[in-house]
Amino acid sequence: MMQPNVHYAELKDSYLFAGIAKKTQAYLQAHPGQKLYRMGIGDVSLPLCPAVIGALHAAVEEQANQSSFHGYMPECGAAFLRESVAAHYAERGVTLNADEVFVSSGASDELGDITDLFARENAALVIEPAYPAYVDACVIGGRNIIHLPSGEENGFLPAPPEDGQAGFVYLCSPNNPTGAVYDRPGLQAWVDYANRTGAVILFDAAYEAYIEDPALPHSIFELEGAKTCAIEICSLSKTAGFTGTRLGYTVIPKTLTRGGMNLNAMWVRNRTTKTNGVSYLLQRAGAAVFTTAGQEQVKAQIGVYKQNAKILTEALDACGIWYTGGKNAPYVWLKCPGGMGSWEFFSYLLNEVQVVGTPGEGFGKCGEGFFRFSTFADPADTEEAARRLKTLLK
Ligand code: PLP
Repeated sequence: MMQPNVHYAELKDSYLFAGIAKKTQAYLQAHPGQKLYRMGIGDVSLPLCPAVIGALHAAVEEQANQSSFHGYMPECGAAFLRESVAAHYAERGVTLNADEVFVSSGASDELGDITDLFARENAALVIEPAYPAYVDACVIGGRNIIHLPSGEENGFLPAPPEDGQAGFVYLCSPNNPTGAVYDRPGLQAWVDYANRTGAVILFDAAYEAYIEDPALPHSIFELEGAKTCAIEICSLSKTAGFTGTRLGYTVIPKTLTRGGMNLNAMWVRNRTTKTNGVSYLLQRAGAAVFTTAGQEQVKAQIGVYKQNAKILTEALDACGIWYTGGKNAPYVWLKCPGGMGSWEFFSYLLNEVQVVGTPGEGFGKCGEGFFRFSTFADPADTEEAARRLKTLLK
């Protein structure tokens, strides 16, 4: 008889988003036709930019013609896209070979799949509050998880532990949910820790495009020594509105080895076994993001979300509420006023001003008492939500 992977039974229900849906649904049933201001969503609201749409149309035409048709793509990514990504890194002073860049279908897939590189015995260190996929992927894999709580006292940017118990570490900067971003010394401490203990850092850079402070690192490879201890996982979802289109990339330096094995070569072997590459159409769309026009257009879109962030943080400032994020990240993480719990504050905002956010407790125990606003909503809705928050909380 097939024995199931019993670790699935250890997964906690995704009660966070289910809980939000249930409570908003109940509210709407009691108040039919009432408009809600949804500041909880982690999905973009703007369409793909013209450079991407143009590339998609052109690629469809190519696929329609015998002379330009493409069949299977290389498993690790098309050379044109791997080179575009490497050139993008070069602009930040990070030198990569194109074959250190792997094209993916998005960061979520990679965050779990990449653990194929690590022996089962390795414990995963997860800084909490955290994007739920890290813990869930490790639970499914039957791995031990070391939970490192963070809080207001360290700006939700904890320093590495003294011990070397972790085999690998999930680091997310700019962070979802907290919007906190490691500065160079803070991130260097993690790189030094990993090189000292032999751990590997999985650096989730899904929100790097939101960094505007020139002193903050976009890539872990901007730090000394990172190429011997880190893998960087990136996504075009929030950078260029690819949440439904699906494309990302992962950087594994050729200098990253453990136990005499080369992790870049291992990932080539993994991809050539487990995937047949990402579609030609999407890779052309992705390459368009890195053209001059594409960069201008995606930056303009990010500017819209940044304006949303400004409006929300100005409202919180006016109310004297503590928060992180918003400036270099598309999330604002605030302390619930009056000592309210996360879910209590959720219900308070829903009932009093019809604003929906995300209770921090859903991202780990230490998120209790905190609350996340996303800045991806429609600008008019964000403005109205901010106005209502000010009226309620001032
Ligand atoms: N990493 C973080 C921190 C995220 O917040 C998200 C999506 O919300 C992802 C990864 C997933 O990105 P993708 O859409 O590329 O799967």
